[in-house]
Amino acid sequence: MIEDAAVPESATRTIRVVVLYPDVMNVYADRGNVIALQARCRALAVGCEVIEVTLGESLPVEADLVLIGGGQDREQRRVAADLEAKGATLRAWAEQDAPMLAVCGGFQLFGRLYRTSAGEELPGVGLFDVTTVAPAPGAPRCVGDVLAFAEGVGELVGFENHGGRTYLGPRAQPFARVEHGFGNNGIDGTEGAVYRQAIGTYLHGSLLPKNLPLTDRLILAALRHRYGSDVHIEPVDEPYAARAHASAAQVARQRGRVTP
Ligand code: GLN
Repeated sequence: MIEDAAVPESATRTIRVVVLYPDVMNVYADRGNVIALQARCRALAVGCEVIEVTLGESLPVEADLVLIGGGQDREQRRVAADLEAKGATLRAWAEQDAPMLAVCGGFQLFGRLYRTSAGEELPGVGLFDVTTVAPAPGAPRCVGDVLAFAEGVGELVGFENHGGRTYLGPRAQPFARVEHGFGNNGIDGTEGAVYRQAIGTYLHGSLLPKNLPLTDRLILAALRHRYGSDVHIEPVDEPYAARAHASAAQVARQRGRVTP
């Protein structure tokens, strides 16, 4: 377990961020989400304590925010059993409204089940009522720039690359609706899933550096988890992030698959 506490001197509040398997689940620079979170916390004068937890290590007693990135089937196979053993704690944290961000392969394993293209069934932690099935090897993957809309967050931009098709169960709420891109399965227009404050998504990018309202939503939820519901943050402009968002949105509009 590696800990990195970045606490600006002016910080009176600190969030505890657990990053799961950063050494294994990190495709398309999902680690950038942690860096963006630390940078945004600095700008908002919020302390950000990052606790990395990998294979065979225990979860800390508490967390205000949990992040897990994507990985291919090979990496998912490596972490699935370890993650299942942590499942009860993660589900309990979600019930206590700890925010989470699970990306792509991490999202699939936060669902009920992921069936790989080899037909192997990897049980997930069941935090989201979703099931993912990958078609046989050689079938087209869902790849490209994405533009989507999430309630309470607004326009989202990102990049997806997944073989697995995710289907929402009756208790699942989609995180967003895709305008450009494949989203969960290329058919129903849904993207990701949301349960209480936990978000699952296919969007890499890295996602957070280009989607500041989502970053702020996670930080606010993490602060409220720790300090109570009357906590607020004063938004600070981040022109660089706004420009990154605008140019990714333009690319997705020009090149992204139009969702049927
Ligand atoms: N192995 C998964 C798939 O291809 C996840 C890929 C990823 O995390 N980018 O469906």
